[in-house]
Amino acid sequence: MTADIIDGKAFAASVRERVGKQVAKLQAENGLTPGLAVVLVGEDPASLVYVRNKGKSTQEAGMKSEEIRLEASASQEEVLAVVNRLNADPTIHGILVQLPLPDQVDEMAILDAINPEKDVDGFHVINTGRQAVGLPAMVPCTPLGCLMMLQDKLGDLSGLNAVVVGRSNIVGKPMASLLLAQSCTVTIAHSRTRDLPAVCRGADILVAAVGRPEMIRGDWVKPGAAVIDVGINRIEKEDGKTKLVGDVCFSEASEVAGAITPVPGGVGPMTIACLLANTVTAACRQAGIEEPAV
Ligand code: NDP
Repeated sequence: MTADIIDGKAFAASVRERVGKQVAKLQAENGLTPGLAVVLVGEDPASLVYVRNKGKSTQEAGMKSEEIRLEASASQEEVLAVVNRLNADPTIHGILVQLPLPDQVDEMAILDAINPEKDVDGFHVINTGRQAVGLPAMVPCTPLGCLMMLQDKLGDLSGLNAVVVGRSNIVGKPMASLLLAQSCTVTIAHSRTRDLPAVCRGADILVAAVGRPEMIRGDWVKPGAAVIDVGINRIEKEDGKTKLVGDVCFSEASEVAGAITPVPGGVGPMTIACLLANTVTAACRQAGIEEPAV
C-alpha cells in the first residue's frame, strides 16, 4: 500500500485564505481588526525564523501584527511588564510568548500572566482546564491543526483507536484530549511505555510527538492507519548537509499507512494557520461577536 500524502501546506493555505476573508468581514461589518502580538526573548535562530513567519502571515491575513523583542538577559519582571501591557491593550487580541524562555525567566509564571482570553497558544491552565471539561477554550495550535487534518481526511473519528506518542503539555496531552473529545479511544504513550511498537500497531490514528528522528518504523504502523508526524528534527546527511525529518520513518511508514503527513510540509504549516484562526476566535470572543467556525 502507498499512503495518501496529507498536504499540510495546501491545507494551511486554504485555512489562511479563509481567515483572511473572516478578517475582512470583521473589519467591514464590525470595524474590528484582530491583533496578534508575539514576544521573543533572546536570539535563538529557530525562534527568530518562527517569529518572523508568524508576523508575516499575520499581516498577510490583514491583521495587526506586533513583535516585541527583548534581550536574552531580560529579567522576569521585564517580560511580565510586556505581557501586562499587552493584556491591557485593546487592539491586541492574541498574545504569544515564544518558547523556550531563558533560564532566568519562569516559563509557567509568564504563561500564567497572559490573559486567558488572549492566550492564542492555548497554554494557560485555564484554557487547558476548560478544554478538558468541554468548555469553549483557546486550543493549542499544533494539536488543533492535527485534528483538522484528521477530520478532513477521515471525517467522523468516533470509535477509532488513537495512539499519541508523547505527553508534553504543548502537543501530546492536548492532542489526546482533543481526540478524546471526538470520541476516539485514546492511548498516550511516552518514554516509559512498554512495547511501544505493539501499542502503535493498535492505532487507527497514530500521532508522533516525540522529538526523535525517524523513531517510528514502518512495521509499527497498522496497515491503513492515519499517521500524523509532529516531530521536527534536523539531522546531518551523508554529504554533511542537514535536512528535516519527522519522528516517523516516512519511507517505511508511507508503504503501510493509509494516510500520512510529510515533514516538512505536514503539521508545521498548519500550526501557524491555526494561530491566525485562534486570533480571530479570540478577537470575536473579546468583542462579543459570534465567532466563525474553525
Ligand atoms: P517534548 O520533548 O516536550 O516531549 C517529548 C515526549 O516524547 C515526552 O512525553 C517523552 O516522554 C516522549 N518520548 C521521548 N523519547 C521517547 C521514546 N523513546 N519513546 C516514547 N516516547 C518518548 O517535545 P514536544 O512535545 O514539545 O515536541 C515533540 C516534537 O514535535 C519535537 O520534534 C518538536 O520539535 C515537534 N514540534 C513540532 C511543532 C510543529 O509545529 N510541527 C510544534 C511543537 C513541537 P516522557 O514524558 O516520558 O519523557
